[in-house]
Amino acid sequence: MEFINEKLINSYLQDDSLKNVDLQKEIIAKAKERKGITLEESAALLNITDKEIMNELFKAAGEIKQAIYGNRLVMFAPMYLSNACVNNCLYCAFRRDNKELARKTLTVDEVGFEAEALIKQGHKRLLLVCGEHPKESNLDFVGKAIERIYSIDYKGNNIRRVNVNIAPLSLEDFKKLHSFEIGTYQIFQETYHYDTYKQMHPSGPKKDYAWRLRAPERAFEAGIDDLGIGALFGLTDYKFETLAMLMHADYMDRELGVGPHTISIPRLEPAMNAPTAVQPPYAVDDVSFKKLIAILRLAVPYTGIILSTREKPELRRDLFNVGVSQISAGSKTSPGSYDEEHEKKKELEQFQLGDHRGLDEVVSDVCELGYLPSFCTSCYRSGRTGDRFMELAKSGNIGKICSPNALATFKEYLLDFASDETIESGENALAKQVEDLPEYEKKRTKKMIEDLKKGERDVYF
Ligand code: SAM
Ligand code: SF4
Repeated sequence: MEFINEKLINSYLQDDSLKNVDLQKEIIAKAKERKGITLEESAALLNITDKEIMNELFKAAGEIKQAIYGNRLVMFAPMYLSNACVNNCLYCAFRRDNKELARKTLTVDEVGFEAEALIKQGHKRLLLVCGEHPKESNLDFVGKAIERIYSIDYKGNNIRRVNVNIAPLSLEDFKKLHSFEIGTYQIFQETYHYDTYKQMHPSGPKKDYAWRLRAPERAFEAGIDDLGIGALFGLTDYKFETLAMLMHADYMDRELGVGPHTISIPRLEPAMNAPTAVQPPYAVDDVSFKKLIAILRLAVPYTGIILSTREKPELRRDLFNVGVSQISAGSKTSPGSYDEEHEKKKELEQFQLGDHRGLDEVVSDVCELGYLPSFCTSCYRSGRTGDRFMELAKSGNIGKICSPNALATFKEYLLDFASDETIESGENALAKQVEDLPEYEKKRTKKMIEDLKKGERDVYF
């Protein structure tokens, strides 16, 4: 954990010379070259208070996002396998001491029903989530769940990428997890601030800060090269957390030869019998939240930024403009909740959501805002992961692959799952975006769309 250098972070946070407006403007101009910025420069941008410079920051983040990702927004949904947990995180409703929560672990059959319900909504990408429990959600069960999810087919549609957010594993167990053909392995440090971490995680295996911090390295050694990190904003000063997370990203880049594939930015939400969630000690206001996301986009331009349905629709719309590249939609945070029967079982929930809209409504909204909803999973299945993905992204060539594939998966969605209203707005957006492609990609995309219309599914390159 020596690479999270709290002393250095604090020295940047106390350095008054980093509050200089001209310096901040220079850094924003440099960031537009899309080569990232240093930790010290990120610290300077975190000090922005001037409205005009703040708007320059937001504009630059939007431009960088557009240049790298175009107008694509990748869609996914979480699937909760179990809310049983041996840890006692002070912010989470799944914590061991919450005796009022009804505990539930899905059976493998129920996992299949959940997968089918999500496929019927139009999802192709899932994030598996569960509490940490040696019996209820052990690795063999996770493996069986993933196998069942991949096996479900609904009229040629299926889940094509299962990302995983589970407690840290040993090297041997990460090798096993890798053999289940997962996409990204995600793990949030929650807080990088050591003393706060200790306070928030009083018991259970999660109290070991270093075991968690080193999890991405063990996963990488086990062969998982798409790794996601994150911090739970609200537990400590957001400026500290942002810099520490960037320090972690930089460490991964240097040590593993590839930085994080994604960064997640959950903000603390109210949760049942979770003392810290009721009154976040360092609640992050919306403007600071937007600022930190924009800074992440400038600092690590090629890393995906994931925004969940913890946030309300209006704020989510605003944050697409400053660098968010992946969003969850139509999410539920309790096991078995996509199945109608469990719909009202709120007491199983991990935390409260800010965006309750279904996938179709989000897709339609995203289209109207000028973004392209993408359900693409082609990189993972074509071996473009880890450093191979990053090289392609940094060379500026990833868009040539992503845009056609995103358009094809969006067409699949429109053909199979969209409501009449979404078909109307979606088809218009699709036609325009196909026409905007360069000649070669346009030709390939039109061919894929024709194949889909004839009934083929899962076309990509
Ligand atoms: N139990 C595993 C773990 O803690 O690593 C798996 C993931 S946990 C179910 C998913 C994430 O939910 C946590 O890493 C944490 O960041 C987030 N979370 C927990 N309580 C939350 C709350 N009250 N508001 C927002 N996010 C929360
Ligand atoms: Fe358990 Fe994860 Fe919730 Fe902590 S955050 S109580 S480890 S489910």
